[in-house]
Amino acid sequence: MEREREFVSIRWVVAGILIGIVGGLLLYRAGGAESPLFGIVGLGADLFIRLLRMVIVPLVVASLITAAAGLDTRYLGRLGVITLVYYTTTTVLAAGLGLVIVNLVDPGVGAVLQGAQTPQEILEREPPTFADLLRNLIPANPVDALARTDMLQIISFSLIVGVALNLMGDRAQAIKGFVSELLELSMVIVRWVLYLLPVGVALLLARAIGQAGWEVFAPLAKYMGAVLGGLAVHGLIVLPLLVWLLGGVSPWRFLKGITNAMITALSTSSSAATLPVTMRTVERELKVPGYISRFCIPIGATVNMDGTALYEAVAALFIAQAYGVQLEFTQQIVVLFTATLAAIGAAGIPSAGLFTMVIVLQSVGLPLEGIGLILAVDRILDMFRTMVNVEGDAGGAVILANIVGRK
Ligand code: ASP
Repeated sequence: MEREREFVSIRWVVAGILIGIVGGLLLYRAGGAESPLFGIVGLGADLFIRLLRMVIVPLVVASLITAAAGLDTRYLGRLGVITLVYYTTTTVLAAGLGLVIVNLVDPGVGAVLQGAQTPQEILEREPPTFADLLRNLIPANPVDALARTDMLQIISFSLIVGVALNLMGDRAQAIKGFVSELLELSMVIVRWVLYLLPVGVALLLARAIGQAGWEVFAPLAKYMGAVLGGLAVHGLIVLPLLVWLLGGVSPWRFLKGITNAMITALSTSSSAATLPVTMRTVERELKVPGYISRFCIPIGATVNMDGTALYEAVAALFIAQAYGVQLEFTQQIVVLFTATLAAIGAAGIPSAGLFTMVIVLQSVGLPLEGIGLILAVDRILDMFRTMVNVEGDAGGAVILANIVGRK
């Protein structure tokens, strides 16, 4: 049997980060997106992201079908309820933390800002109704859902198929065997991609830093500080404490264990693209049993976004402050819930949170043009909020393994 090699050493990944940062700064000085080298760096970065995205659909389908087909259905129900309770509670907590911080720091009060134009796509966006959300959970055509990588539809389709296979028992041996081999196959490819992690991280960071408009950061420094400070408290204190208390894993072991997933999240700004790494990391480094991670990581990467919720809450209040609008306590409670919904509704792709911000702003009557004020720094904040999103998914897997670990 092929000997399973460990991940690439963390030293290589750290070297990748450093090379990416230095390379990005040099690229920026050499003209950023105008520089001829930028195209080559961008191409390499795209190739790496595409490799990761290539395995998402087969991995999610195979993981969820295997989980639903292999577990006792009552146990599956329990797992589902606890997963959803954990995801919702931590997301609301994160949005609440964002509100507390933004009220303490007041980053938008007195801010004189020249915002960018809010993209037409966002201005024209109609927030979906609850009925739309429910309707869209079920794909009318699963092949279409797979082709569009509509994660929520893929999740519901896979769970339904998994439960059906489960009830079919021995009559479905062939399909079950096929799906579990598909899962193994996907993980083999994930392992290969992981060997490229240091190079991928270097290229992605160099591209992000190389094209960032650094000069626009100064007027938004306080706002950035509020978002990053909130993310730091949630990511370095709240989540590790929860994992310690409910999951029995010490903060140090937890944070060290998920380093590769966090770095992939930072460099890709996409929970979905990071999903394969998150899954492998929690299984290998934190010893979460496969039947837990296969169920909760794909769902978490799609719906559980603590970092995004925190960011939505801070951004909405920042915009209100910048417009000189004072949001009452009850309106802030509305922000708390809509920020949670906006985070759940955001896809695990770059800048998704910026689009779902429409829900939060409209709920308290703030102008959508306000999004233009924060556009300039969104890319950089996206990197850090995605890190916390992925950390929340990994934390959930550890906690579930501890609470309902035994089948
Ligand atoms: N990029 C984030 C993610 O993939 C979503 C967001 O834009 O907040 O988790």
